Amino acid sequence: MFCYQCEQTAKGEGCDKIGVCGKKPDVAALQDLLIHAVKGLSVFAVEGRKVGVVDSEP
Ligand code: SF4
Repeated sequence: MFCYQCEQTAKGEGCDKIGVCGKKPDVAALQDLLIHAVKGLSVFAVEGRKVGVVDSEP
């Protein structure tokens, strides 16, 4: 496990066994995966906006 998803991270470097917040390795990995996926999605959103694609939902 390696997690540096917040300011409470162990020693200011990263929690590497279990989170000081109690987060388990599987949750940290899934959150990393979620952020990675959202970053990828944002690439398409930016490119879509350039060609006039907009989301009409608020
Ligand atoms: S495991 Fe918890 S305390 Fe540690 S960096 Fe991640 S979110 Fe913060």
